[in-house]
Amino acid sequence: MKKTAVFPGSFDPFTVGHESIVRRALPMFDEIYISIGYNSEKKSFFPLDQRLNWIRKIFSDETRIHVESFSGLTIDYCRKVGAKYILRGLRTSADFEFERAIAQLNKSMYPEIESVFLLTVPEHTPINSTIVREVIRHGGDASKFVPAAIDLSGYIKKKEI
Ligand code: ADP
Repeated sequence: MKKTAVFPGSFDPFTVGHESIVRRALPMFDEIYISIGYNSEKKSFFPLDQRLNWIRKIFSDETRIHVESFSGLTIDYCRKVGAKYILRGLRTSADFEFERAIAQLNKSMYPEIESVFLLTVPEHTPINSTIVREVIRHGGDASKFVPAAIDLSGYIKKKEI
């Protein structure tokens, strides 16, 4: 049976931290779904289509990676695509506490699911999508925090003098 994992997130935007987690997890699974969970009531910074296209571009050479969006519960989506593993990245103890609760709830609702956590490499610990968005909002250059395939230039606000 195929070992399929879902890497769920908002990826607003996808960062080098996310990319590293996916590339390190790839040898552990037959296929990975990178799946953007969306909620029509929650507004994102980058449009859903843009986020999907960027991730597809990053992994365009990798046939074992699928990039999709979903709404609703992550476990329902996992059932739909036949995934028994949820992949998540851990940066800090705060991440751990947050992820622990979600993983335990997911397991209580879907006992066959296993959450798999990879610790971030030290240099990616401070990188998160919120910081990338803040840098862009203030006219800064966030390109080193995102994979090279992501061109943020169209989104950088002109600095107010
Ligand atoms: P969510 O909105 O579900 O928190 P994110 O898009 O922020 O989704 O993150 C998706 C996953 O990637 C989470 O497991 C998060 O902990 C992990 N992650 C985020 N940034 C990093 C990073 N710099 N290094 C490793 N993992 C990360």
